[in-house]
Amino acid sequence: MSGQLKGEKVFRGIAVSAGVCRGKVIVLRHARHAIAKRELPENEIDAEAKRFEQALVRTRQQILEVQRRVSETMSSNEADIFDAHLLMLEDRVLIEEVIKLIREQKANADYAYHTASDRYIAVLEAVEDEYLRERAADLRDLTGRVLDNLLGAKDQSDLKHLAEPCILVAHDLSPSMTAQIDKKFVLGFVTDIGGKTSHTAILARSLDIPAIVGAKTISEELETGDYALLDGYNGTVIVNPTDQTLFEYGQLAKVKASLDEKLREVQHQPAVTLDGKVIHLSANIEDQNDVPAVLAHGAEGVGLFRTEFLFINREQPPTEEEQFQVYREVAAALKPNGVIIRTLDIGGDKFASNLQLAQEMNPFLGWRAIRFCLAQPELFRAQLRAILRASAEGNIKMMYPMISGLDELNQANALLEKCKAELRAEKIPFAENLEVGAMIEIPSAVLIADSLAKRVKFFSIGSNDLIQYTLAADRTNEKVSHLYEPTHPAILRLIKMTVDAAHANGIWAGVCGEIGGDPVLAPLLVGLGVDELSCAPAVIAQVKYVIRRIKLEEAQQLAAFALASESPSQILARCVEFARQTAPSLFEKQA
Ligand code: PEP
Ligand code: MG
Repeated sequence: MSGQLKGEKVFRGIAVSAGVCRGKVIVLRHARHAIAKRELPENEIDAEAKRFEQALVRTRQQILEVQRRVSETMSSNEADIFDAHLLMLEDRVLIEEVIKLIREQKANADYAYHTASDRYIAVLEAVEDEYLRERAADLRDLTGRVLDNLLGAKDQSDLKHLAEPCILVAHDLSPSMTAQIDKKFVLGFVTDIGGKTSHTAILARSLDIPAIVGAKTISEELETGDYALLDGYNGTVIVNPTDQTLFEYGQLAKVKASLDEKLREVQHQPAVTLDGKVIHLSANIEDQNDVPAVLAHGAEGVGLFRTEFLFINREQPPTEEEQFQVYREVAAALKPNGVIIRTLDIGGDKFASNLQLAQEMNPFLGWRAIRFCLAQPELFRAQLRAILRASAEGNIKMMYPMISGLDELNQANALLEKCKAELRAEKIPFAENLEVGAMIEIPSAVLIADSLAKRVKFFSIGSNDLIQYTLAADRTNEKVSHLYEPTHPAILRLIKMTVDAAHANGIWAGVCGEIGGDPVLAPLLVGLGVDELSCAPAVIAQVKYVIRRIKLEEAQQLAAFALASESPSQILARCVEFARQTAPSLFEKQA
């Protein structure tokens, strides 16, 4: 099955998490296979027919399992689709045709099934009837499943049971799949689709494993068993690397090792510019397991705790008590540094199978984050109470995601006050002065930032969403990634407006989106007046390294240039030039 590609071949995508790894590839299901015909020796024919039957049985089990899961969370219409798949799977005519090809032509089962089902698909696609034409798509789906079983491709649900370290290749990996990744077995991953700030990419950075998204058709072209090198600096996957390529990457590893040495030296130093401007540099986390990395990388607490990851990959949402234990554990471990807990931001590209979220046409513009929480007061109440209770035991702050207007903020705060009153009545301690902030990630929030600033203690700019909502460019869609430009003048003006509104009202403003962890953009953000940056633990040292080598004055000049410029690429080029001049070692030789 492996070795279909001979010689070195390079695939390109969008680099989303730095590092290099190499190893055996495992292609997750949905990959399409190049099926070759093999003539079987007479004595293998019975076994091949049996193998085919087993693949059908396994496929049937999988479909029933998916159907069960879908019917728990979606309408019965969606679950009914799988009835059609089951009927096709059990179609006697198709099965007999496959068996005939195996027995009479001595063909391998994958080739036989692929050939027979292709014939069916072609017939269905040619008919006038729309209903039947749609069945062609169903059959194509089903064929992929059967072939995956015949060819031994891993099902995505098997992610927890990988037997050896590998590079994952998939059409897509959902955040819930990525959240299951065990670093011991997954060296890195690459997907056909996705954007730099999709949650799958964010999780890769948080796991600190190399990753590439938007590699177009890679999941169709590679096969399980191929050998590849994944370069998360440059966004390349090199299959069957030559000795020369391996030698060059060996050199790169040496350069990176000496950079790591330099970064270790600043790791536990403050993030202060040469002329004394202190930037609060904190970390983004997804759960309590990230705390050791926060401490190891020298972050000053947590600037964004994405609590939704506590809700996914489980049967029931976590109870108040469970959440309390997690928040308390994190706060206690990081004391006296602060932990900013972001209330549940489910929806968009993050879904929890235990929450009843119907499929939407436009999930990023739909029932997400604070909108969802305000409509589910019991769920929200449990989280608010858990956060309040934990605030008695550590330095906790809290912020609401996706605030688009004052009403949402007022409603959320009203519920918070109710929770405080309950806890007082129950004599349960909490920090009366718990600081509440708002995420600024929707353009409307920027435009009313002066009003919001009078009602909160801080702003945290969610640039990942702010960019997608301002530029109307889906953060998860590689086809519009060229439009997703952090240095677009509109974005820089919005950041400046937010910071100015915060400072005019005596509160601070930070950035917790991915641009905050980009050493190229950090000086620009400092120059725009941002007080705090929060990013993945693994990039803290790089950002610190840059900040410690610049002057506030130079950063302000850079920001002034950017605010006067009309061109995103010109601004980016100036940022790159500035970062390379001030911290050349960070950008040395990227293979
Ligand atoms: C953001 O939008 O920048 C942000 C930090 O939140 P998330 O990435 O979780 O949407
Ligand atoms: Mg966001």
